[in-house]
Amino acid sequence: MPASSFVVTAAATTLVFAFALAASLAVRLWLARRQIAHVRRHRDQVPAAFAGRLTLSAHAKAADYTVAKQRQAMLHTIVDALLLLALTLGGGLAAIVAWTETLPLNPLWRDVAMFGVAGLIYAAVGLPFSWWHTFRIEERFGFNRVTLRLWLADLAKGTALALVLGLPLLVLVLWLMGAAGAAWWLMAWAAWMGFQLLVLVLYPLVIAPMFNTFSPLGENPARERIEALLARCGFRSAGLFVMDGSKRSGHGNAYFTGFGRAKRIVFFDTLLSRLTPDEIEAVLAHELGHYKRLHVVKRIVWSALLSLVVLGLLAWLTQAPWFYVGLGIPETLLPVAMSRPGVALELFMLALPVFTFVLEPLSARYSRRHEFEADAFAVRHASAAALTNALVKLYEDNAATLTPDPVHSAFYDSHPPASVRIAHITAFAGTKVA
Ligand SMILES: [Zn+2]
Repeated sequence: MPASSFVVTAAATTLVFAFALAASLAVRLWLARRQIAHVRRHRDQVPAAFAGRLTLSAHAKAADYTVAKQRQAMLHTIVDALLLLALTLGGGLAAIVAWTETLPLNPLWRDVAMFGVAGLIYAAVGLPFSWWHTFRIEERFGFNRVTLRLWLADLAKGTALALVLGLPLLVLVLWLMGAAGAAWWLMAWAAWMGFQLLVLVLYPLVIAPMFNTFSPLGENPARERIEALLARCGFRSAGLFVMDGSKRSGHGNAYFTGFGRAKRIVFFDTLLSRLTPDEIEAVLAHELGHYKRLHVVKRIVWSALLSLVVLGLLAWLTQAPWFYVGLGIPETLLPVAMSRPGVALELFMLALPVFTFVLEPLSARYSRRHEFEADAFAVRHASAAALTNALVKLYEDNAATLTPDPVHSAFYDSHPPASVRIAHITAFAGTKVA
């Protein structure tokens, strides 16, 4: 490409990136303001469908909690956008590249150092938000059970885990980018898929137990119903576990994890202590629904296809001078930047979310479809009324709003709004009887 045309393309890249960043920021803030306004407008009345099931004070608490979290999220969104701007067009990453180039290391480790510096900057910006969320917001609403000591221990463990798992992957990918020739991205894709599979296997066995204690669901009034349900659905697994979620918060949940013979269903102790045996059975049936309808497998297939496309795109961009210059690398630094594969990788990882932002509603919608499918399965194998009761308790314990803004919800929510979900459950139950 002649020099003049690459400069024009670089300028166009800068414009497109700046526009996408501004547009995604504007849409996120607009959605947040809609959510706050909507929740506030419905704060002082329990929705008719939930009258008698939830006190007005619990409903108002959920509204205040949602607004407090949303306000923090707005500030975080703005700070993240400014940070991204500073690192790219503001020349921040260029400065880090220039500085790491002076280090007495080989190019691969200079790239690793660059990732380290950028990672530290993001951690330094993110930590105050995390602290504020736990010790201000969760605390104010009575959910927090984390001491500063536990918070710091979690931070240390999380960092160690990121280093032990992430560093070898980063080094491998950087090495492939530099040494594996034109098809490096196919090999990097294989490495990435292998890594994801490894994490999937390690998560229930090693990673989650680093943070919580898991004990087999022992004698429980719901035991018989649970075993009957598992037999009915032909589900054989490494078991049912109770997690000490109460160690960190009053929030309750249940989830499905692992695969093959290591698959297991985990209940938070906070949820278990609140549900009746038939409600536990219904929640378990919902989780089994996710498993039986292959939701985890489908997600993995989607993510495999997407990461293949994304890596192919990256492979193309690493060769394009306009990509670097358009995202804030000065032309004088271009030879260095193009000789170090990590620079393209870091720029790409920084800039990509600004463009994939438009895919978020599709992903959320896909996830909501899975929730409906799991609910339909649950209603076929357990009681619809019990599932509804369990859901209302779950909403109350998490102070999740029953009145989200429909547009905000459609854009972000992985679970359908409570009223929509319960209406579906009632409809599913109707077709079962008929
Ligand atoms: Zn679900």
